[in-house]
Amino acid sequence: MHEFGIAQNIFDAVSKEIEKREVSKVISIKLEVGKLTAIVPSALEFCFESLAEGTPLDGVKLTFIDIPLKMKCKKCGNIYEVEDYYCICTECSSIEYELISGDELIIKQIEVE
Ligand SMILES: [Zn+2]
Repeated sequence: MHEFGIAQNIFDAVSKEIEKREVSKVISIKLEVGKLTAIVPSALEFCFESLAEGTPLDGVKLTFIDIPLKMKCKKCGNIYEVEDYYCICTECSSIEYELISGDELIIKQIEVE
């Protein structure tokens, strides 16, 4: 389950952030999650809950914003959305592309008390 490592990373980053601000409780964390990360929100929530127990992050609500997988065609410059990594340009059918978005995992917002 790769969610545990991800939960740990988010937990560490948020902990560091709230330490700086002397926060006693975190209410929610908004995450931008690219489709390519293949994160299962319920699994991530579960891992996060066990990490957060007894910390200022205990009971925090995780909100997920899905970021679609977008490619840019190297031939014609067309930007198109796809379901998975294997794709062809919707304009010129080229299979040469670069990833524009879809592999990100960003802590967008931390709501504190
Ligand atoms: Zn193209």
